[in-house]
Amino acid sequence: MIETLDINIVKAEATRLSVTDFSQLPFGKVFTDHMFTADYEDGEWKNLQILPYGPIPMSPAISALHYGQAIFEGLKAYRQPDGKISVFRADKNFERFNKSAARMSMPSIPEEIFMQGLAALINIDEKWVPSQENYALYIRPVMFATDPYLGVKASDMYKFALLTTPTGPYYSSALKVKIETEYTRADEGGVGFAKTAGNYARSLYPFEQAKKEGFDQLIWTDSINHEYIEEAGTANLIFVINGKLITPSIRSTVLDGVTRDTIIKLAKDAGVEVEERRVSVKEVIEGIENGSLTEAFAAGTAATVTQIGEIGYLGNTYKLTDSSTRTISNGIAKKLNDIRYGLASDEFGWNW
Ligand code: PMP
Repeated sequence: MIETLDINIVKAEATRLSVTDFSQLPFGKVFTDHMFTADYEDGEWKNLQILPYGPIPMSPAISALHYGQAIFEGLKAYRQPDGKISVFRADKNFERFNKSAARMSMPSIPEEIFMQGLAALINIDEKWVPSQENYALYIRPVMFATDPYLGVKASDMYKFALLTTPTGPYYSSALKVKIETEYTRADEGGVGFAKTAGNYARSLYPFEQAKKEGFDQLIWTDSINHEYIEEAGTANLIFVINGKLITPSIRSTVLDGVTRDTIIKLAKDAGVEVEERRVSVKEVIEGIENGSLTEAFAAGTAATVTQIGEIGYLGNTYKLTDSSTRTISNGIAKKLNDIRYGLASDEFGWNW
């Protein structure tokens, strides 16, 4: 039996719900009334609290700011037809959070703190979970090092927080993406599989360059000789080649996406053959040219399935099929959304 934790609750004086325009929700800018926080000190997690959402006082010397010991997660809660709220595959995000923590020499967070903190926070901010079609509550767990010293070493103190932000539908037409052949997102032996701040920091400059060239997003390739496809900006990549779902295998340089894993399971369940293996740039370009590559999409929590319309590689542009004709990915995306919103039976037990 998991014990029920003692969480100190300080309620916000007033809710910001009435002054929030749910038809205008830029991603990650509008936060709910409360947040959950906990502190790691003397080898244990303490001060479990729900507080009004707001600034956290801290020393300017905290090691997260200087040496980047910071990790995060991203998952969503969905309003169900009966009014209840369901969080999708929270156990997977919890597991990945602790994998990231271990790689960054940070303490793991106990499951009961992650889950009970989340349940308590969603409960108190229940009215913030949107009920409009294609809306959800995005949940952002974060942990960062708070030792107020400048020595380079793993911090002794950390803060864990759960932030929640309502998000609207993700309108996105098929993306124009560039296969990156100069910069890399992750390297062998590095931290690519961890959801840690530095992976995102290093991707910003290459992304800005690609944007200047007219692309929406990057496709990262391996750091040895840019021969193999790894993943997209902040999503995993999946292709349909000769009717099979083909996706780069998870390695130390690739984030093990929950959406990718979910899509693989749904595809197999629907009788689609799936291959998780190395996928070369050559195979993708040749597949577009000879017509065997019929679908390409990015898979992630934010957008579920984002179709790729055009790929740029070494100055050439390769146009893909019209995304409305992509029966495999559109079918799986629909099934996935139906499960998340409680419109299809949750055969895999993903809704919590
Ligand atoms: N790769 C990267 C680098 C990401 O940031 C994300 C978003 N978390 C993903 C893949 C997709 O992961 P998930 O499906 O778990 O959101």
